Amino acid sequence: MKDKKIYLSSPHLSCKEQIYVNEAFETNWIAPMGPNVIGFEAALETYLGNGNHVAALSSGTAVLHLALILLGVKKDDEVICQSMTFAASANPIAYLGATPIFVDSEPETWNICPNHLEEAIKHRISKGKKPKAIIAVHLYGMPFKVEEIKKISEKYEIPIIEDSAEALGSRYKNQKCGTFGAFSVLSFNGNKIITTSGGGALVSRNLKHKEKAEFLAAQARDVAPHYQHSEIGYNYALSNISAGIGRGQMEVLDKYVELRRKMNQFYTEIFHKKEGITVFAEPNADYFSNHWLSCILVDAKVAGFSSEEIRVEMAQNNIECRPLWKPLHLQPVFKNAPYYGETVSEKLFEIGLCLPSGSNLDDAAKSRIEDVLKHFTQS
Ligand SMILES: *Cc1c(COP(=O)(O)O)cnc(C)c1O
Repeated sequence: MKDKKIYLSSPHLSCKEQIYVNEAFETNWIAPMGPNVIGFEAALETYLGNGNHVAALSSGTAVLHLALILLGVKKDDEVICQSMTFAASANPIAYLGATPIFVDSEPETWNICPNHLEEAIKHRISKGKKPKAIIAVHLYGMPFKVEEIKKISEKYEIPIIEDSAEALGSRYKNQKCGTFGAFSVLSFNGNKIITTSGGGALVSRNLKHKEKAEFLAAQARDVAPHYQHSEIGYNYALSNISAGIGRGQMEVLDKYVELRRKMNQFYTEIFHKKEGITVFAEPNADYFSNHWLSCILVDAKVAGFSSEEIRVEMAQNNIECRPLWKPLHLQPVFKNAPYYGETVSEKLFEIGLCLPSGSNLDDAAKSRIEDVLKHFTQS
């Protein structure tokens, strides 16, 4: 019999979710919004602290879409976006008929490069169009260079949309990711550090933003006994059932961050003696990553094999690994979008690999992973 598949990152339920979901059934709150949504938002607000306001919505992608709308992004506007990220970071720019301007990464955090960001802003302004927003991502849970990016955002007065979809539980200088941007985005998709099966949240320092997002997400109904609309609305609310799962997950979030970080430690120990392989790690003590996914870079010339060879052998053993995000400026769908940078993200894509990182990987799974990786570390 074939061994059970080991996934990169699969949902990890505690037993608390069921209690909140049952409550939704028992009280017949089978609807978008409801007590679980309010409870989930409150749990996130407590977790993030510092007067942050949270609107729980149907997906991280929906949150990015609404954040762009709240910043007034319209057709033919330009929005800067980190190139090395999941397509969902940039797709909502296209929903609005605006143009993404992609920027390369720097090699320390793999996130948006401050130098190329400034170059892009200056060049776009010189062409007569000031970008409306900067979408910066904490990739794989690693905080981007928060201070440098914020400085540029302030200098040119272009707000940051902080894509923290992968970074709930991460910190920069002890401040939690999801609290840095003009708007911050969380995701609770099935593969993220905590899940609601599908869901997201908009985080803002301003209560009005939360209220406006919730208004737009619930079809933009004006106050009236009949259905009255003065704006285009969306159906982006979170289900009360999904939010019940989220409430349960919030109770184990800190534990899951620790377990993901232990997976990173596990790989660091496996590879520490192998030349040519580096495990992605925080550049210094200012950074604290939730290590949503543990990633390695393989210098094939030094190691004697490529990241692809590891991926294939792991797949043969029913263990899922995946190359890093393919930079969006290389994606066919974005081929006409302007790009600023060199080849940092391209190179990362070429030699990088994401390894199984779930908080639910037990000793048996780890030992299967280790057995396959031993072929490589001992070659
Ligand atoms: C998952 C993810 C999103 C989108 O979130 P969904 O909830 O799946 O819509 C956006 N950005 C990044 C970087 C992600 O990893």
